[in-house]
Amino acid sequence: MPANDDKKMRTTESKIRVYSYDEARAFAVRVLALTEQHRVVASPSNYAVLYAYCTGESAELREAFDAAVHSGKPLDDFTLRDLHERFVALDQFKGLQGVGTDLQKIVQTLLGNLGEAGQDAQEFGRTLESSLGRLRDDSGPQAVQAVAATMLTATRQAKQRNDQLHKRLESTLAEAEVLRSELEEQRRVALMDPLTGLLNRRAMEAQFGELMAVDAEAPLSVLMVDIDHFKRINDTYGHALGDAVIRNVADVIRKSLRVNQHAVRYGGEEFVVLLPQTPLDAAARIAEQIRARIAALRLVRKRDNFTLDPFTASLGVATRRVGDTKETLLSRADSALYRAKDGGRNRVTVEVVH
Ligand code: GH3
Ligand code: MG
Ligand code: MG
Repeated sequence: MPANDDKKMRTTESKIRVYSYDEARAFAVRVLALTEQHRVVASPSNYAVLYAYCTGESAELREAFDAAVHSGKPLDDFTLRDLHERFVALDQFKGLQGVGTDLQKIVQTLLGNLGEAGQDAQEFGRTLESSLGRLRDDSGPQAVQAVAATMLTATRQAKQRNDQLHKRLESTLAEAEVLRSELEEQRRVALMDPLTGLLNRRAMEAQFGELMAVDAEAPLSVLMVDIDHFKRINDTYGHALGDAVIRNVADVIRKSLRVNQHAVRYGGEEFVVLLPQTPLDAAARIAEQIRARIAALRLVRKRDNFTLDPFTASLGVATRRVGDTKETLLSRADSALYRAKDGGRNRVTVEVVH
C-alpha cells in the first residue's frame, strides 16, 4: 500500500509498434530471463507486461515495475496482474473503438438510404408534376388515360422502392441494436473488477474525476479500506480462499453503501469508497459500520464446513478540502489508513484536521 498512489492511477496511451524478427526475439529472451529472475510464470498476461517492460515503450510501466521490484516484496502474479490492468489491458478499449467504427458505418448506411429515399420522392414528385402539366395542356380522353397509366406506374415503382428501403432500414437497425448491446456489455466489463464485481480503478478515475468537478463546496469524502494481515490469510488458507475473503469483504462494502456511493477495488486487498454529499463525521460512521461488519464475518467453506478464523480490516477516512485534487484527497485517506495500521489495525482512523 504505497503512499504515492497517484502514480498508480495514470494509464498510458495505446501505441502499436512493430518490431523486426531479431528485435522481438531479443525482447523475448530478456522476458524469459526476467521470469526466471523473479520466479514468475510466463503466462500470456505476465509475458505481455514483461515484454512491454523490455521494449521500454511505456515510461509509466517501467517506473511502476521498477518501484514494485525495489519495494522489497516478491514480484508475484498479483503485482503483475495489477500492472497488466493498469498499463497493458487496453484491448477492451480497442474493442470499444472497433464497435464505435461499426456503428458509424451503420449510421452512414442509414443516412445513405434516407438520401436515396429523398431522391426517389423527388423523382416521383417530378413525374406527377409533369403528368399533371400535360393534363392541363391537352385534356382529351386518351391523354387522360396515358397520364393515369404513367401515374399508376410511377406510384407502383415508388411503393416498390419504399418497401425495399423499409426492409433495408429494418435489417440495418437490427444490426445497430446488436452492436449497441455489445458496446454496453464491453463497457460494463471494461469498468468492472472481475473478482468482486466492484468498479475497477479505470472506472474510479472517471467517477472520481466527475465528483471532483462538482461544486468544490459540496462535501465529498473518501474511505480507504485494507484487509489486515491478508498475506497471512493467503499463506494459511491458499489463494482461492484468499480470493473468497476479498469477495466477501467487497460484498460487505457494497451492502453498506447507498446507490450514489461508489465502491472500488483499488488493488489486491485494498478498496476505495467514494462518498459524495458526505461530510467527514458521516463518512467515519459508514467506515465504522464497514469495519464492524467485516470483523463479524464468519466464513465457512461449503465443501467441508471448514470455518476460517475471523479477520479484520483497517480504514482511513478523509474529506475534500478547497484546492484538493483526486490525488491529494486520496493520499490523505491513505495516510489515515497507515495510522490505523500503526495504531494496531481493525480500526477506523480519520485524517488529521488542522
Ligand atoms: P497489512 O495488514 O499491513 O495490510 O498486511 P497485508 O499482509 O494485508 O499486506 P501486504 O501488502 O503485505 O500483502 C497483501 C497480499 O495480498 C500480497 C499479495 O500476494 C496478496 N494479493 C494481492 N492481490 C490478491 C488477489 O487478488 N487474491 C489473493 N488471494 N491475494 C492477493
Ligand atoms: Mg494492502
Ligand atoms: Mg493488507
